[in-house]
Parts: sequence; structure tokens; C-alpha cells
Amino acid sequence: MITVLRLGHRVIRDQRVTTHVALTARAFGADSIIISGERDDGVIESIEKVCTEFGGGFGIEYAKNWKRVIEGWKKKNGVAIHLTMYGEDIDDKKEEIMEKCKERDMLIIVGGPKVPFDVYKMVDYNIAVGNQPHSEVAALAIVLDRLVGSEGRKKRFMSAKKRILPNPVGKTVVEGLLG
Ligand code: SAM
Repeated sequence: MITVLRLGHRVIRDQRVTTHVALTARAFGADSIIISGERDDGVIESIEKVCTEFGGGFGIEYAKNWKRVIEGWKKKNGVAIHLTMYGEDIDDKKEEIMEKCKERDMLIIVGGPKVPFDVYKMVDYNIAVGNQPHSEVAALAIVLDRLVGSEGRKKRFMSAKKRILPNPVGKTVVEGLLG
């Protein structure tokens, strides 16, 4: 099981990026997201709306205390991976991480504003997607692509109201309750 922990959400300022982190997590094969920082029911509702429309059992929750989330994860023998431009490159660590997570749940942590240094010390891995600053959305997409592969993107999203069929030109959307 893969969960994404989004740190330091700020109401209004981060609404769009946090929504994109959640949608990317869902579309690239993660099972759930935990949003930390300021509580923002609007963001949770907008992600839930996409999940209802496009299906799948993606979980969304808010946690005030991110430290407790990471501690709880470690207590349950889960693997915690923090994405940061200061870390070791995903391409150098992906085999080791995949081996370690064969039978263990994975928590992928992404920041927003300045990430507290405790995060760096609490996790099993500090992982970079290149050592240049970019975005939590880009970093998450690439890390999920490396660790889950195309299986994550192609998984069937059950109980969807809408499903998009690939179309070289134009849009094909099948509607109705789809198993
Ligand atoms: N200033 C913040 C700090 O002190 O960590 C980073 C802000 S950055 C816009 C937001 C998030 O994007 C980071 O916390 C990290 O999760 C992710 N990120 C940005 N560049 C990255 C990279 N090269 N590799 C991995 N993750 C990255």
C-alpha cells in the first residue's frame, strides 16, 4: 500500500498544488493521501468529487500532527520516503526501495513551504528527482512512475461514473455507473 503525506498545506495559497498532489498520487497508483498543515475541507471535497466521478477507492484524510503520522508509520514497520532536492537520486535508490517495500507499506512525503529538519532525520530515505528545485507534483509523479510503473496509471478505477477511452483525436467519455 502506498500513502502520500503532504506537509504544510496553506489554505488558499496551496489549494491548487495540494489538489494536484492528490490527483497525481491517485492517478499514478498511490492508495491514499494524508494532508497536513492547515485544515482545508474545500480541498478534501474537491478531491473527493473527482474520485466519485472517476472511481477507485482513493482515501483522503487530514492530520494535524505530521510527526505522529510518520512515527505511527514507522511503528507499523512501514517505509518512509521524503522527496527533497537535497536527497539521493531516485534512479540510484529505486531497486533498494522496491526490494524493501515488497511486503511493507510505503509513505511518500512531499513538502510545500520549508520542511522541518526532523523530517529528514525521521525517514528511511531522502530522495531527489535531480538535485534542482522544482515541484512536489513533478517529484511525486516521477517517483511513483519509477516505483510503481505504468501499472499504477493503468489500474482499473472501480465504480466510476465516467471513464475516458483513448482517442487519437477528440474526446471519448463513457458515462454511467461503471464497474
Ligand atoms: N523550500 C522547501 C524546502 O525547504 O524543502 C522546498 C519547496 S519545493 C517547492 C516543495 C516540495 O517539492 C519539496 O518539499 C519536495 O518535496 C519537492 N521537490 C522539489 N524539488 C525536488 C527535487 N529536485 N527532488 C525531489 N523533490 C523535490
